[in-house]
Amino acid sequence: MEDFCQEILLTEEQIKKRIAEVAVDINRDYKGKKPLVIGVLTGAVVYCSDLIRVLDFPLELAFLKASSYGSDSVSSGKVVINSIGCDVKDKDVLIAEDIIDTGYTLKSLTEILYKEGAKSVKCAALLDKPERREVDVAADYCCFSIPDAFVIGYGLDYDGEYRSLPYVGILNPAYIKK
Ligand code: 5GP
Repeated sequence: MEDFCQEILLTEEQIKKRIAEVAVDINRDYKGKKPLVIGVLTGAVVYCSDLIRVLDFPLELAFLKASSYGSDSVSSGKVVINSIGCDVKDKDVLIAEDIIDTGYTLKSLTEILYKEGAKSVKCAALLDKPERREVDVAADYCCFSIPDAFVIGYGLDYDGEYRSLPYVGILNPAYIKK
């Protein structure tokens, strides 16, 4: 294991297997529908790409950028969502989110999508850190609950690095920039 990774939490195989399991529920719930899947950039790109390929209904795909301003590893609670860039009116929207931490991003995004006229909004999250929650939101579909630690890999970065790792690991605190 590389020095920047303190512990591998989820291997590539575990992630793949769990996404396929969660997709069974998603496929059941969206049968006969054509939802708009919205991947949250940049962290959810890898997860979203793997998720959509095990969904068996027709779908539309879009991405948007959500930024939470704060230091590199701590959320501030202030979320800025770039314009959605596609019409969500009367659509069933499924948000593909990499990780739910404080919950501010998911809460803001859900509110905006309903305000823009979405018919339904649900979230399929790869990771959830329930201990860190500050607002009352929950993913409708969640692959893994993880402890309160800063994780990298499988799309998740620290200061722009580590996104291409095939696994999810805990960042070695010695690598956190002062
Ligand atoms: P929330 O708004 O729920 O606090 O934060 C959601 C966003 O914070 C995620 O989409 C992700 O970008 C970032 N985030 C939260 N926890 C982690 C983590 O452990 N590692 C990384 N790389 N990003 C995280």
